[in-house]
Amino acid sequence: MRQKNLNQDQSLKPLNLNLTDHFWFMRSAIEEAEKAWKGGEVPIGALIVDDNGVVISRAHNLKESVSNPCGHAEIIAIQEAAKKKADWRLTDCTLYVTLEPCPMCLSAIGQARIKQVIFGAYDSKGGAISLGYPLHKDLRLNHRFGMMGGVLHFECSRILSQFFKERRPLKSNASQNA
Ligand SMILES: [Zn+2]
Repeated sequence: MRQKNLNQDQSLKPLNLNLTDHFWFMRSAIEEAEKAWKGGEVPIGALIVDDNGVVISRAHNLKESVSNPCGHAEIIAIQEAAKKKADWRLTDCTLYVTLEPCPMCLSAIGQARIKQVIFGAYDSKGGAISLGYPLHKDLRLNHRFGMMGGVLHFECSRILSQFFKERRPLKSNASQNA
């Protein structure tokens, strides 16, 4: 009976995931980011998990490999999760991502009706909240959701800074040769 009532109003549905789960799933998202690095992509990983802790989809940044400006980890994870569930509404899902989502991804997360977002590193140059676009709590939009940043911040930002540090000499060599 209780379950039935909860299902009738998704907004009342409690979130079963706790902080320990957030750390666990963020580590898994970091593993996705490592896969991106191996593929020559900026290392960003994402994971979509349902309220029972079941991983629905996992993805990493694929912009370069598929030549798609929308190939962000979050977008790919959302598309994959919706396909698996055969439903575009991911209302009981949490999205984990190693870097603060950009405005495009935050908007897509709202479109997918995702319940909450947990991200790792803040992104002062591209993150929606950091840039002043807190779309997740905009009362004019029809879906709002919770967000928590800074989970495993150090690990999430370290992988990015190491990637760019390694890439910098390659880039400067390339520009010298150009
Ligand atoms: Zn994005």
